[in-house]
Amino acid sequence: MKPANALLEQTGTTIFTVMSALATQHGAINLGQGFPDTEGPADIIQAAVDALRDQRNQYPPLTGVPELRLAVAAANQRFYGLDIDPDTGVVVTSGATEAITACLMALINPGDEVILIEPLYDTYLPVVRLLGGTPRLVRLNPPDWALPRAALAAAFGPKTKLILLNAPMNPCGKVFSPEELAFIAALLVQHDAYAVCDEVYEHLVFSGARHIPLMTLPGMAPRTLRIGSAGKTFALTGWKIGYVSGPESLISLVAKAHQNLTFTSAPNLQRAVAVGLAKPDAYFASLAAALQARRDILEAGLRGLGFNTLPTGGSYFITADITGLGFAGDDLAFCKTMTAKAGVAAIPVSAFYVADPPQTLVRFAFCKQPAVLHEALARLEIWLSGAAKPLRALTAAG
Ligand code: PMP
Ligand code: GLN
Repeated sequence: MKPANALLEQTGTTIFTVMSALATQHGAINLGQGFPDTEGPADIIQAAVDALRDQRNQYPPLTGVPELRLAVAAANQRFYGLDIDPDTGVVVTSGATEAITACLMALINPGDEVILIEPLYDTYLPVVRLLGGTPRLVRLNPPDWALPRAALAAAFGPKTKLILLNAPMNPCGKVFSPEELAFIAALLVQHDAYAVCDEVYEHLVFSGARHIPLMTLPGMAPRTLRIGSAGKTFALTGWKIGYVSGPESLISLVAKAHQNLTFTSAPNLQRAVAVGLAKPDAYFASLAAALQARRDILEAGLRGLGFNTLPTGGSYFITADITGLGFAGDDLAFCKTMTAKAGVAAIPVSAFYVADPPQTLVRFAFCKQPAVLHEALARLEIWLSGAAKPLRALTAAG
């Protein structure tokens, strides 16, 4: 038999699936894969139920139902003052995952260079490669994950087509500063390049900070595609409704990519997400406040147990350095052992790197009920205290 697609044959099963399966196998509390453990808002779910029953269950329009395109445009205006045309500036997709692929398809020609920032979300690199793009990796380093400006500038060149920017960032919870965003914007203008902005955590920023889309910076609107996800904004990750906003010149191409990927997504879910996006400001504020409280519970608890937690300004996640625990193994071994022995699953941060990853960082999701976080911390305490004499004895095998 002839070999099938070489790039996909080299691509492993995503770490999120691997760790969730392990969590199920061991009955562990799953602080790995990022999904809330409570339902999203009841009124949005009821809107989806109602929408199933009113005779609009055939193919919706390719770019999304009008209600949702209008709601996406209105949300862009309400939260960021962005002027997006609901008819020509929005494409609704099956989750941000499809949106990312569709945006990359819209922009990349084989041989184009694509700037990716490590640690990076796991779908980015395989898709860039499948499209024939050449990844140019720029690495952020803990503990502050500051943008390495010289390295970023050096990564840009005549072949640079775009930067793929995840803000706020998974897994490290980084929120880019206005100065960092301005630096990126200046490089994009200088090199006449585009930005694909994965902003699925746009409403999950903490400590009163406001998310600043790169698209709002001067000169960026004509060269930026901005991606959101109802999964994150409404705690409905299984619905897989995403949306891309941008200028007509680019959105028309995203629409063509989308027509070849899925063509459309479930109409009742789209209509319910439109109801969600029209919720009052108080909903969005309370979403962030509730998550921040959960971050604080997990952060304090992990610190008390000897994890060196790194600051997280947004997203569902805390990263923690395990060096102080004295574990004899890397982050993957640690996460597997912790899942099996402590009954708590997390994600090894090395999965977010292409080569030479840090090996002492693990990612914990805090989008869980406070009681669940407390229970996870209690389990960790039992595990760590049992192993603490001495902790060096705590190996991947034991
Ligand atoms: N981008 C990032 C950074 C993510 O963390 C995720 C997953 N939560 C996605 C994209 C995918 O979003 P969706 O579930 O809407 O496809
Ligand atoms: N985005 C989620 C995370 O980072 C996982 C999504 C998935 O499993 N594909 O945990």
